[in-house]
Amino acid sequence: MTEHTADVAVVGAGIAGLAVTLAAARAGRKVALFERNEPAVGASVRNFGLVWPIGQPAGLTHDLALRSREIWREVIPSLGLYHEESGSLALAYQPDEAAVLGEYLERLGTDPHGRRWLTASEVAKLSPAAITDGLLGGMHSPTEITVDPREAIRNLPRWLHDRFGVELRFGTHVHSVGAGRVETGTECWRVDRVFVCGGQDFESLFPEVLARSGLVRVKLQMLRTVPQPGGWRLGPALCGGLTLAHYESFRGCPSLGHLRQRLEVEHPFEVQNGIHLLVSQTRLGELTLGDSHQAAQTVDPFDREDVATAIVQGIDRFARFPSWTITERWHGIYAKSPGEPWFLHEPLPGVTILNGLGGGGMTLSFALAEKLAFQ
Ligand SMILES: Cc1cc2nc3c(=O)[nH]c(=O)nc-3n(C[C@H](O)[C@H](O)[C@H](O)COP(=O)(O)OP(=O)(O)OC[C@H]3O[C@@H](n4cnc5c(N)ncnc54)[C@H](O)[C@@H]3O)c2cc1C
Repeated sequence: MTEHTADVAVVGAGIAGLAVTLAAARAGRKVALFERNEPAVGASVRNFGLVWPIGQPAGLTHDLALRSREIWREVIPSLGLYHEESGSLALAYQPDEAAVLGEYLERLGTDPHGRRWLTASEVAKLSPAAITDGLLGGMHSPTEITVDPREAIRNLPRWLHDRFGVELRFGTHVHSVGAGRVETGTECWRVDRVFVCGGQDFESLFPEVLARSGLVRVKLQMLRTVPQPGGWRLGPALCGGLTLAHYESFRGCPSLGHLRQRLEVEHPFEVQNGIHLLVSQTRLGELTLGDSHQAAQTVDPFDREDVATAIVQGIDRFARFPSWTITERWHGIYAKSPGEPWFLHEPLPGVTILNGLGGGGMTLSFALAEKLAFQ
């Protein structure tokens, strides 16, 4: 066993671990980053790649989302990453959907971020995909950014190494963490602080703490189309009415109860399977379609075709694309901290577990790491 030293050790090179690594490195710490896979293949490469402030409730988490967005914008140019300041469009075909969006906008008042209601013809000008038959209008938000998570999560570690001298240990399982100590099969690291960002692995490190934490695993099914022909671009990321019932940001809108009741009657399968409908686009022009939500301590390994079909059919009700040919299907699993936007715990002095970012890891991690770890 060889001995090494650093100021900070980070376990897990998903977006949470990468965000902590970035924050620590920017604060001048010598960091060692450990990831059991090479490259990382957890929730962070399986998502829409959406930095999605619009989904975060007003207050701390929304502010963090906007700060994360700034950090993405700071690192993207030197990383040479694809990103699109796509914004988002939430489409309303039913009066209760329009009411929820109207109430949300009313609560914002004069929004410094430019979120506003668009008529159906204004939506048509902004989005080549949105179906305008029966469309009452939509809420446009300019704050959302799309990255390609496969590219971002793969390239960030190398950039952290080149730019800040972060020590990378990929293909390296951490099997033991103590106060000021991290052990792999072949190395022992002495450090001042350890951050454990292990995502949905609740068994390897501090299993008793994680068992008591209330964290749950959530499985999400996703699909990807071929690159759209002729360079066709989606424009703003699109979502429909089911999404309004999904994101915390719309809680408190008086019409949400009515919307939920209607969805339960009209779309029981979607409600039962936690389906909400969202579309983003990659650099190559592929469309990422999703998703469903199934919470379970042991996740069903088998992806369901009826769930995939419901996602495709649901999106087909509000969006038209040149090609619907599906090339990839997969599922991702994230850890969620029910009722909280993340889980943060210090099981030992100098050891911090950061986990449970649920559906907001790409949106919140950079700012959260900056705020919690090194201010
Ligand atoms: C399908 C899907 C769509 C989503 N869409 C979005 C979106 O558009 N926008 C958004 O903001 N969020 C989205 N999310 C949520 C976001 O992806 C997660 O919040 C985020 O990826 C969680 O990051 P993480 O670093 O905690 O976990 P992970 O990405 O799972 O990373 C954990 C890493 O730790 C490593 N690890 C664990 N234990 C050890 C060990 N002992 N030794 C070494 N390595 C270890 C694992 O190998 C893994 O790579 C989505 C999630 C999913 C699944």
